[in-house]
Amino acid sequence: MRFGRTLLSAAMALAIVGVAVPSARVGAATDGLAAAFTAIRGGTVWPVQGGTRDAITSTLGPRIRAATDAYDWHRGIDLHAPEGTPVVAALAGELFGVRDYADGGLTVILRHAFPEPVLFQGRSLTLFYTFHMHLSEIEPALAAAAAAGETPAVARGERIGRVGHTGNALSDHLHWELRVGTPYSLEWQLANPGSRYGADAFGFDPHVHPMLLVPPPSSHGMSLSVTTKPTPTADGLVRIATSDDDPLLDRVEVRVVRRSDGRLLQGHTLDLDERIGYDARTTAALDTPDTSRPWLSPVPFGSTSTWTTALVLPASWWSGVAGVRVRTTVRIVDAWGRSTSISW
Ligand SMILES: [Zn+2]
Repeated sequence: MRFGRTLLSAAMALAIVGVAVPSARVGAATDGLAAAFTAIRGGTVWPVQGGTRDAITSTLGPRIRAATDAYDWHRGIDLHAPEGTPVVAALAGELFGVRDYADGGLTVILRHAFPEPVLFQGRSLTLFYTFHMHLSEIEPALAAAAAAGETPAVARGERIGRVGHTGNALSDHLHWELRVGTPYSLEWQLANPGSRYGADAFGFDPHVHPMLLVPPPSSHGMSLSVTTKPTPTADGLVRIATSDDDPLLDRVEVRVVRRSDGRLLQGHTLDLDERIGYDARTTAALDTPDTSRPWLSPVPFGSTSTWTTALVLPASWWSGVAGVRVRTTVRIVDAWGRSTSISW
């Protein structure tokens, strides 16, 4: 993943000429988030001291777990670094708490304020949270403050802990999460309805793309190619390639229209930040893809400079348009609202 990125990007750009249509159109669903974080991202630092985007080894959304080879829905991104590397606050905030999760290990949670309220999932949000998991050590001053029930201010770039592999982790890395509105998952909210953080207060799963905290590259670095066109009797496959330094894929839209009059016959949207097309009510549900409609089948991340995800277009979904001449368009949108589409 460290070599040949420029060459590969150039090759990718050539490969998509004539079939993909880059577009400046902005995705509707995540406009509020992207706009809010546009005002914030310029003042952030990378959360692993001395680290770069090259150290990203897993991104938000469907993935294959290295440990089990099973599908799951990753709620953050993984940044590899040697054990003991300082983890710092990406931006100013205050300590929300420290935890020792069975899966997440030693964790520092920071709370931050949006400059202005943000509309998300029908609610006006004023706060967001950054989670730092699998730490080998929590910064002693923060651990002492948490034990005393205090929530001290934390400055941008201030050390909050060190990289490790506590909890359920195969290797040393920082699992970095961005949650908006509430620090609690929808599953937790539903189990604690009376709490001020309960489902009645929020009612959504708050994990969104951590790369919203990072200035985006000048181009989105995503491309599409059709491997197999779907038919009513055989699944189709569209490959989505993403730069491993900027894994920003957020939304996939599939639209099938009748060629004769352009009428929309079938449509399906998958949106990672908004959790559209996914059942996020429980971890188990989110970790089980709905294969009856277009779905993302991740491939394990390798050592190349791009990551590929397969968009599966199930034959059963296509049986609804059997015998009709149709035009299919797949459009992908990154976390910053930049898109590319392909049609056939
Ligand atoms: Zn992770």
